[in-house]
Formats: sequence, C-alpha cells, structure tokens
Amino acid sequence: MSISRRGFLGAAAGLSALALAGRSALETQPREPEPGGGTPAAGTRWALVIDPRKCLEAGDCTKCVDVCHTVHNVPAIAEPAHSVKWIWKEPFERTFPSLQTDYPPDDLRDKPVMVLCNHCDNPPCVRVCPTQATWRRDDGIVMMDWHRCIGCRYCMAACPYGSRSFNWKDPRPSLVQTTPDFPTRSKGVVEKCTLCEERLAKGQPLACVAACPAKALVFGNLADPASEVRSLLRSRFTIRRKPELGTRPAIYYIV
Ligand code: SF4
Ligand code: SF4
Repeated sequence: MSISRRGFLGAAAGLSALALAGRSALETQPREPEPGGGTPAAGTRWALVIDPRKCLEAGDCTKCVDVCHTVHNVPAIAEPAHSVKWIWKEPFERTFPSLQTDYPPDDLRDKPVMVLCNHCDNPPCVRVCPTQATWRRDDGIVMMDWHRCIGCRYCMAACPYGSRSFNWKDPRPSLVQTTPDFPTRSKGVVEKCTLCEERLAKGQPLACVAACPAKALVFGNLADPASEVRSLLRSRFTIRRKPELGTRPAIYYIV
C-alpha cells in the first residue's frame, strides 16, 4: 500500500472538517468520471422505501440480510471489529440520531430498522476515493470495484452512516456457502451494498426485496412519477438518514 498511516489519519481529519462544513463544500467538488461498469438506463434513479412497521410485524425475521449476504458472498465473522455487512438492523434512535423530536413514534422507539448503503446523490465516499474504486452511476447506484480498491479506507472515514466494511482478514474461510456467479473478495478491500446491480442487469428484483415476507421493502425508479416508490412518497410521511449533511440518500423510511 503506498499511502502511509500518517497520510490516512491526516486525510481522515480533513474529511471530518469537510463533513462539518456541510453540503456547500461537498457540492462544489467536480463529479468524478465514471470508470466503467454497468450501463444504467437513462432517466432512472433507483431508490428504496422501507416500512419499519411492516418489518416489525415479521418479528425477528432476518431473511433480507441472510439472502443478501449469501448471494453476495458476504462472510459471517462473529468478531464485531472484523464483521462485514451489506444490510443489517440498527435501533431506531441510532438510525435517525438527528430526528428533530424527543418523542419518536412509540411503536418504533428502540426497535430495529433495516439499514444499508444509502446510495447517496451526493456521496462523500466517492469524492475521497483516490483510485475511483467507488463511483456513482447515473442511476444513482454507488458502485465498488474491488480490484481497484487499495484499502486506504478513506471512504469509510467519509461515510457518515457506517455503511462500508473493511476486510481485515481473508473473508473466504468465513463464507457459510459460496455463490459461484458472484465474486469473492480478498483481505484489504472495502465492500458494501451495490443495490444488486448484477441482478438489475438481468431484470431480476433486489434479493432483499424478493426475500422480505412482509413486503417492507419497495424498490423502484424515483424518476418515474407512476412508480410505486413515488406513490409511497406522495401518500406516506417518509424521512431519510442525517438529511442535514446534504448527502441526499436514496433510501427512504416510512415513519
Ligand atoms: S451511505 Fe455511505 S457508502 Fe453509501 S453512498 Fe452514502 S456516503 Fe457512500
Ligand atoms: S478503501 Fe478502496 S474504495 Fe475506499 S477510498 Fe480507498 S481505494 Fe477507494
């Protein structure tokens, strides 16, 4: 690795300052060119609308997590410091720390909420990557190229949602089973949800959406006024995570 620890820490400090400076500093940066991978359809902006109450109705269900991690070869590592995750549950208050009320809905207070990469419109993780191993497609999916990732973890420092994981050790021995048509990763690279871009390319639904028995996850095109996601945004009250940061997440939550 060519980037020193001192360099990493310096950049991380800079990132914190950038995050505190807010959206104006972020939005004045030029958008990086997309280095390839995927051919999103024009006029598409993918998004997810999550209904935490429907999820709660399914009890301790983890089907979305299980199927996502299986089809994407995400290792099952028990040690919290080394764990890798693409989609998981966080308590409501930790998911929405900047909610402008001391009185969240009683039925959601302290309850688990599905979280994943927000596929932000204005993703700080993309801006800081020195190798363009992560980039934003025109349809909004924030992608990863594990072959280009040098493991500097700038993106992890920049993401205000903790949506990225680092492979501190070779993940392959920790795979419960291997899905042969999806790549495995190696020690020293970052990974995260890529919104099932490989399935979308084949016209298949997101694995988490298809697996959810409660229909708590709705996926669709924000650019299409007739889409189900747009219909939900019109008819239900939704919030996004940490909106004050100006990252503009594409994951909405019905509250
Ligand atoms: S949630 Fe984090 S990793 Fe995902 S696009 Fe936003 S800043 Fe990047
Ligand atoms: S860890 Fe990988 S993806 Fe993240 S900023 Fe560094 S090179 Fe880019």
